[in-house]
Parts: sequence; C-alpha cells; structure tokens
Amino acid sequence: EKRIYLSSRQPIYNTCKEIVGVLCTSTDITQIHTAQEKLEIEATTDPLTGLFNRRFFFKLAEQFLSESIRHNKSLSLIMLDIDLFKEINDLYGHPIGDEVIKFVAFKAKSLLRKEDIIARVGGEEYVVLLPNTNGKAAQLIAEKIRMSIDSECITGDWSGNIYPKVSLGISTFTEGDAEFHEIYARSDKALYQAKFTGRNKSCMLEKSNDTSDQQAPEINL
Ligand code: GH3
Ligand code: MG
Ligand code: MG
Repeated sequence: EKRIYLSSRQPIYNTCKEIVGVLCTSTDITQIHTAQEKLEIEATTDPLTGLFNRRFFFKLAEQFLSESIRHNKSLSLIMLDIDLFKEINDLYGHPIGDEVIKFVAFKAKSLLRKEDIIARVGGEEYVVLLPNTNGKAAQLIAEKIRMSIDSECITGDWSGNIYPKVSLGISTFTEGDAEFHEIYARSDKALYQAKFTGRNKSCMLEKSNDTSDQQAPEINL
C-alpha cells in the first residue's frame, strides 16, 4: 500500500554548537493527500463522461492560445453537438440519453492524440482543442470523428437501436486572434451552419474581415 508522509529533520546541537544528532519526525498525510487529489479531479472533470469540464477547459484553452501565439504554432478547435438529441431523450428516456452522451465522449476521445484536449461543455456538446494542428488537419480529424460515430449503433437492455449522429464546427487560430472566445465563436458559427444545412456533417469557418455573411464550407471526404 502506498502511503504519503510529511517528514522533517532538525539538527541537535551540544553546548559547543556541534551537531550531535538529528531529530526526525514523520507524519502520515495519506488521507489529506487523497482528499486533495479527489477534490482536484472533481473540480476539473465532468462526472458523467470523465472528460474535462467546461470551466477547466476554458482555463486550459487560454493557456494553449498563449503558447500558440508565443511560439507561432497552429491551434484548432472543433465543436461537436449530438444531432436531434432531444428525440433520443424523448424516445428512450434521460438515463439512456446519458448512455449516448457517454458513448459519444468515449468514441471521440478514442480517436484523438494524447496531447489533444476534449471536454464536455454542455448537455450533449463537446469541444476538442487541437494543438499544433492547422485547419486542414482539423477538418480531417472532425470528419474521422463524424464518420466513426455515423457508423455506430448503440444497443443495450432496452428495445430498439440508437444510431447517434453528430455535427461539428471547426475553426483555427489565425493571426490577430487575441482571445480564445474569438476562435470559440467561429467554431460555434460553423456548427450552426452544419446544423442549418442538414446535420451529420462538419463545417469550417475561415476568418475574414467580415464573417457575418460568410458561409461555412461543408466538408465531405
Ligand atoms: P440539434 O440537432 O439541433 O442539436 O437538436 P437537439 O435535439 O440535440 O437540440 P438541443 O440542443 O435543443 O437538445 C439538447 C437536449 O439535451 C435538451 C436537454 O434536455 C438534453 N440534455 C441536456 N443535458 C443532458 C444530460 O445530462 N443528459 C441527458 N440525457 N439529456 C440532457
Ligand atoms: Mg444537439
Ligand atoms: Mg446542443
């Protein structure tokens, strides 16, 4: 069994100020340490999926954006939302809806690299932050996730098969992006385009001087 101790050592002097011994104390702090670790996990993790939670994601994202700006590295963001999830909830009930949320989280995470960050930021909404990844590569990853989920059928101890589908919005860090919310807003807009133009697809929004009327191109591999 692994135990954690807090130890201290103090020299013992004689009257001539020579060290004649050492006083050692050791306190078992395993319980405090375990409680601290548990609190840290709870503060950063979404309990349903085990992914990072929204709050921790934004904290990490700010750090990754600063790194990318400082070292002139690419950074991309994918926003993912389960299609017509309300229908799944209505048809099968909330607990089975939860199983679908967990399944999509697991599936998406299994397709990512170790350095990628995936978080659950809403009910059936996820974000994936891709360091050192340009827009083209992010598009490929988004399509890989979408196609992989598209080919899945979720079964369990309920009657009927669930075929989850997802839509994805992609954006990439561009010169002039100073705040993470700028990239986030572009992904959100691209996701809206994917939903608006039929769902079960990924769209990417490039930055331009005026993005208000910009159509996100649909990606189909
Ligand atoms: P769209 O394709 O436009 O995204 O359609 P949608 O039905 O997925 O749209 P919407 O985002 O409105 O629906 C999300 C639903 O997710 C609504 C809410 O009741 C449900 N939901 C939110 N959090 C949870 C959760 O933790 N578990 C379950 N089972 N459902 C949740
Ligand atoms: Mg949805
Ligand atoms: Mg949603």
